Amino acid sequence: MLEPALHILKDVFGYDRFRGQQGAIIERVAGGGDALVLMPTGGGKSLCYQVPALLRDGLAVVVSPLIALMEDQVATLDELGVAAVALNSTQSLDEQREIAERLRNGEIKLLYLAPERLVQPRMLAFLQNLNIGLFAIDEAHCVSQWGHDFRPEYLQLGQLAELFPNVPRIALTATADKRTREEIVQRLHLQDAERFLSSFDRPNIFYRIVAKDNPRKQLLGFLAERKGDAGIVYCLSRKKVEEVAAFLSEQGYPALPYHAGLSNELRAYHQKRFLNEEGLIMVATIAFGMGIDKPNVRFVAHLDLPKSLESYYQETGRAGRDGLPADAWMAYGLQDVIFLKQMLSNSEGDERHKRLEQHKLDAMLGLCELVACRRQALLAYFDEELPQPCGHCDNCVDKVETWDATEPARQALSAIYRSGQRYGVGHLVDILLGRDNEKIRAVGHQHLSVFGVGKALSEGEWRSLFRQLVARGLADVDLEGYGGLRLSDSCRPLLRGEVRLELRRDLKPQQAAKGQSKSAASQLVRSEEREQWEALRALRRKLAEEHAVPPYVIFPDATLLEMLRSQPRSLSELAQVSGVGARKLERYGEAFLDVLNGGTAGEEAPRQVVDLRHELVSLARAGMTPAQIAGQLQCTEKNVYALLAEAIGQQQLSLEQALDLPEELLGEIQEAFLDGDGELPPVTELTELFAGRVPEGVLHCVRAALAVEFEA
Ligand code: ADP
Ligand code: ZN
Repeated sequence: MLEPALHILKDVFGYDRFRGQQGAIIERVAGGGDALVLMPTGGGKSLCYQVPALLRDGLAVVVSPLIALMEDQVATLDELGVAAVALNSTQSLDEQREIAERLRNGEIKLLYLAPERLVQPRMLAFLQNLNIGLFAIDEAHCVSQWGHDFRPEYLQLGQLAELFPNVPRIALTATADKRTREEIVQRLHLQDAERFLSSFDRPNIFYRIVAKDNPRKQLLGFLAERKGDAGIVYCLSRKKVEEVAAFLSEQGYPALPYHAGLSNELRAYHQKRFLNEEGLIMVATIAFGMGIDKPNVRFVAHLDLPKSLESYYQETGRAGRDGLPADAWMAYGLQDVIFLKQMLSNSEGDERHKRLEQHKLDAMLGLCELVACRRQALLAYFDEELPQPCGHCDNCVDKVETWDATEPARQALSAIYRSGQRYGVGHLVDILLGRDNEKIRAVGHQHLSVFGVGKALSEGEWRSLFRQLVARGLADVDLEGYGGLRLSDSCRPLLRGEVRLELRRDLKPQQAAKGQSKSAASQLVRSEEREQWEALRALRRKLAEEHAVPPYVIFPDATLLEMLRSQPRSLSELAQVSGVGARKLERYGEAFLDVLNGGTAGEEAPRQVVDLRHELVSLARAGMTPAQIAGQLQCTEKNVYALLAEAIGQQQLSLEQALDLPEELLGEIQEAFLDGDGELPPVTELTELFAGRVPEGVLHCVRAALAVEFEA
């Protein structure tokens, strides 16, 4: 069985060997057995059902919860020359009828379906009349009522076991915990499934957690070494998402906001841009999550603390799916702790549930204040043992210092107690440092015995200490929501002098900004390779635009990188590169060889402007996007926008024909132009306002359309 599987792996997917347990899984499923696959993000789950789908007779039905995910997979398979389709509600009846016909004729190998669609009686009846070779249930944890991705439709997938008793089923998920695992087996009737449990380690991710000081500045420090990399910045609130996205744009980083308060249309638009463009930063709440299959997300940065290690693992896990170096960076401070603790105590739900959530938050805080290897601790939380410290996290590489904080901690607890257990950290630090200010005098705290006893430490050190006291549960936050600190029961032994306390020394800011020894991007390509790397990427972008797929669907970064390193000189040498299958070799081989041999296929000189414009107008009228037009005409998008704006100005095109912008965004741009006193301002006045949010060319087009209206 493995022989033909390897053949398909090389021929279709262009890979030389299976990763981890892929081989065993494929053997099991292709042989007709059921399987439950638990594998981390980026582990290579798709191949586990795609290869059996090609090995087995008949149609493979893949259940997937999100249209975006399905489209991505179908596009990828399409590029590989595999007959795959998705049926979804956005298609017209005619399209659906045509797909049904092709299915009946056995022309399709993989069919992607949303669960609610699959379980419709008509669909089930239709499938029962076809030759089904395999069911794959992706994101199988959606069947679990405990997880945050629960989808009621998944519960109905259990009936597949009875309706198709002879068809093997494979369920896949990146969610590790035991409870979810058992629930999947129960609800999907997978009692006979062989279980394949992989390590959940993500070795290519470098973890760093720093004490929050000036978070925006810290973020800029982190980003400075990552110019041009795509990444996600997570924030807790919508407001903060908007602010940070605007701030990053001002600072010259292309950043887009994403949160549940934006219209569906705008969210979809931002997501699409994130997938299709390179080097965009998505600033998002956790609403931006499942369905982000972009493999070359180079970093995930948290400006707020996630509420559990499960969330932290999942969110950071969106970095580096492609296996290349990636960073998980987080800035966290006392305010985060206070905020989450208060949110918890104000939340609905019974005591048991609250205790569980509290326990999860404590585990998260434990990771933040940890002195030992982060990866070991993270994996241990998921019941996995890493025998040695990883050598690839901040604590491993920085050699964290600790200090004996027993005495200062006692002083701090005493300051909390003597001031009546209701003041926040700012005031407490003032007491300890003996600051004789108005607020202190107003309440007479200059007379406390602890007043001024802490001058040996700096303000920053005291703040760090208070944060760690709260994180370790030695002090509590008041429930009224003013951030006042109280003693907790667990601080008694410390106060009585029965135990000592070792605390972490916070890092200096310069060090705290570092991720991997170098940034992911500069680690990927050396400076002398940069030019050719950019040429390869330009070619990939051009091909992606022509085919209307994201660049990584043409070739993943890892494949481009291997081309760069191995410098193939012929098609047969190129075929050796991992990720170059037969179909892609045939389609793109020559073009990439050209670039490798010093050509400039990526950026051909633009043709005569006059006939370009004519062609451009007809392409735009035909509904092509600027990016697709750029691909077709082999010129830059910037040029396309300039020509579109001209055509609009000459009324050869309407704005709607030229651009496909969400209405809300269009309205906002129009308003910005009309804000002045009758005169349309030049585009340059608005560039900053919309920097990163839309390509500048969009502004030129909107302005041109307004100018036409003005004149009329
Ligand atoms: P998952 O669904 O588990 O997150 P994917 O199936 O998307 O992971 O695979 C992640 C990446 O690894 C993809 O770019 C895929 O092409 C690549 N990949 C998977 N299996 C192999 C393999 N055996 N050899 C090389 N690359 C692989
Ligand atoms: Zn480590």
